[in-house]
Amino acid sequence: LSVEPDEWKTGVCRYCGTGCGVQIGIKEGKVISVKGDPENRSSKGLNCIKGYYLGKVMYGKDRLTKPLIREDNNKKGTMEGFREASWEEALDLIADNLRKSHEKDPQSIAFWGSGQQTIHEGYISSKLWKAGLLNNNIDPNARLCMASAVTGFMSTFQSDEPMGCYEDLDKADVFVTWGANMAEMHPVLYSRLLHRKQTADHVKHYDLTTRYSRTSEAAEETLIFRPQTDLAIANGIIRYLIEHEAYDKTFVEEHCQFKAGTEDLGHSLEDDYDETEKGAAATESWNVSFQEFKQMVDPYTLDYVEEISGVPREQLEALAKEFADPDKKIMSTWTMGVNQHTRGTWMNNLIYNIHLLTGKISKPGSGPFSLTGQPSACGTAREVGVFSHRLPADLVVNNPDHRRFAEMIWNLPEGYLEDISEPGFHTVKMFRELANGKVNFLWSMSNNWGQTMPKANRYRGVDEDGKGVLDAFIVVSEVYPTRSTEMANVVLPAAMWVEREGMFGNAERRNAIFEKCTEPPGEAKWDLWALVQVAKRVLEGKKIGGQDAFDLLFGKGGTDIWDDKTGDLKADQTEVCRNVWEEYRKFSSPHLHESIDVQELGEKLKTKAKQLAPYDEYLKQHGICWPVREVNGEWMETKWRYADGTQEEGFDQIGVKEFGEQGKYDKLSFYKSDDKKPSVIFRPFEDAPEIPDDNYPFWLCTGRVLEHWHSGSMTRRVPELHRAVPEAFCEIHPEDAERLEISEGDWVKVKTVRGETKVKATLNGRGKPPKGYLFVPFFAEETLINETTLDAYCPISKQPDYKKCAAKLEKA
Ligand code: SF4
Repeated sequence: LSVEPDEWKTGVCRYCGTGCGVQIGIKEGKVISVKGDPENRSSKGLNCIKGYYLGKVMYGKDRLTKPLIREDNNKKGTMEGFREASWEEALDLIADNLRKSHEKDPQSIAFWGSGQQTIHEGYISSKLWKAGLLNNNIDPNARLCMASAVTGFMSTFQSDEPMGCYEDLDKADVFVTWGANMAEMHPVLYSRLLHRKQTADHVKHYDLTTRYSRTSEAAEETLIFRPQTDLAIANGIIRYLIEHEAYDKTFVEEHCQFKAGTEDLGHSLEDDYDETEKGAAATESWNVSFQEFKQMVDPYTLDYVEEISGVPREQLEALAKEFADPDKKIMSTWTMGVNQHTRGTWMNNLIYNIHLLTGKISKPGSGPFSLTGQPSACGTAREVGVFSHRLPADLVVNNPDHRRFAEMIWNLPEGYLEDISEPGFHTVKMFRELANGKVNFLWSMSNNWGQTMPKANRYRGVDEDGKGVLDAFIVVSEVYPTRSTEMANVVLPAAMWVEREGMFGNAERRNAIFEKCTEPPGEAKWDLWALVQVAKRVLEGKKIGGQDAFDLLFGKGGTDIWDDKTGDLKADQTEVCRNVWEEYRKFSSPHLHESIDVQELGEKLKTKAKQLAPYDEYLKQHGICWPVREVNGEWMETKWRYADGTQEEGFDQIGVKEFGEQGKYDKLSFYKSDDKKPSVIFRPFEDAPEIPDDNYPFWLCTGRVLEHWHSGSMTRRVPELHRAVPEAFCEIHPEDAERLEISEGDWVKVKTVRGETKVKATLNGRGKPPKGYLFVPFFAEETLINETTLDAYCPISKQPDYKKCAAKLEKA
């Protein structure tokens, strides 16, 4: 560095779910440098290019620095028609509209949170909505990226989040990527995978994908399959293992139960969601014998799978043989290719089936590992209860014991949460109800729905069936102008990343703090502050059990983050974060709550316990993976859940000792699963809901690129990242291009039945699609590819499928 920072602080990257540790160099109150934090056990000092340029993301020229109030509703859809306002006026206006909508129809209000909110912001959003407003219409944008992973975990293991850790990458003999372009989406983890391969000659990587990507480049085998046939491939491997008696019989007998879940619940295209929503949970799966399971997978011979997937039988057999080898440690990883899938839950189940049948799970170097998209999809969206059906710590609203537990921690009278016993609107439903006018108050925070929802025109008020968006009162908390702020009535300028203190929870269950390093620009403020200010206004004069509602929830009577003397949020952000954490921690470590009868209610809740450490411990250790437990005064993390199985009286606490002997796991216990046995669930192949035909002959897939974070609203403000990939592109196979007389750099139109987008063609990009296949990234707001994407989702997880629909291509 030519200029040395005055001081270095500790933090964690604000982009992907890898959750890399960073050190932040500060000079004269400004972040001037970011480098990897060698003490962070998730990343060991590594960052990717987005991480190294993190400091610059805060200093884009068009940062939002003052609250904006829309004066001209006819200009919705643009950044015109706003005037600057004071915070006081903006907050009063928001509270007024929220109160009025809520009084008129409680179902007309909604909050869209994010896996990019901090754990504290997510917790306070959820507490305000669920306990303050008695409303479950709160869901995160993680619904668009991780929901199928959650329902996959819950249906197989009855417990969310991976059992393994990133150390598996250092120990596996075989890697299988199922719909995961790790080289671009989880580059630091991919570096670790490459390092393992470079230091151990025998290690192999099988990349299952629908297009040749950067991840494929270093793989030994790339299995390019026809979209949606991953369901058949997984079943083909399962059948092979059973046919060749190559599954782990002892493990299966001891640890597995068999189920089937094959009911056709529809793809939830358009407006048929009401039925599927009720049906999904009840009909998800039922018990079957091993023999019945065997018969169900019988049709999936490798020849049949080759026929429908297009993957040569030899490749399929080679992969199946890897799983069949009892001595091989195998790590499967996946992300959006599996989760953004109309059968996303099924596909998650199928990967678990393979690892359970072979016993390749919860062992160092062996296990299925669902990678997370956003920095705190696990920590915030999943763990603190931002989902429409959840309470903090995996508790759910429709379980009376869980509600009672929440009432005890939140000091609410018994039965107070009865009104939220039904799940609220999940993301897709929430936005459809916004479009049709039923939701008329929406607050969105740390996300960009105007660009990222499928069939996006509907949510921009363009389509006839989306006019409700124009009439609704919409609040957007943001750092830069986006496609969502264009639709807002009030824009709140937010403090970002290290302009406030926060905490993220990453894909390996590691919770890590980032310190406040600098002040936000202008009048930008912490989202948590704005939430509590609105809470204060909305709960004004309201009583709960004879007590002042705001004080009971957020003041001295509750979370204790409000200073009565100043009439404001407590000034010390660390104190605020610590108080929020310690309250949340009671959900995760129930014995911390002195008034709860551990033997009764605690016994019922024990499988929900995550066990978290005191707040300050996370600063000392630069992040800790849950479950955490105290051993002789030391707070220790867990690397492999279920691996030791030690359970203490009253609550499950998994042991933290590492494996002495590789693969020795005498005490393995899936202690959170029903009957302590995870389910091997039969899930059939089912074709995609929209398949190319004569009119729309291409498959269209959308996704991300290494240099840009999601909708590009932050990374495009970083000059180096913007220059690296300045605009979107459409990857086309050269033979398709030649047939359509399209050359590199030509403008083309990508059209589907839902809309069209103009974008430049690339015939030799970093991704190489097969013939008849297109790929367009979604980071560029001027190329709204989501206007074309399919509006269908997994009926169990409610997660949309952005990875496959039918499209046509024309020279523009
Ligand atoms: Fe690490 Fe992901 Fe941040 Fe890159 S974007 S530094 S891989 S957390």
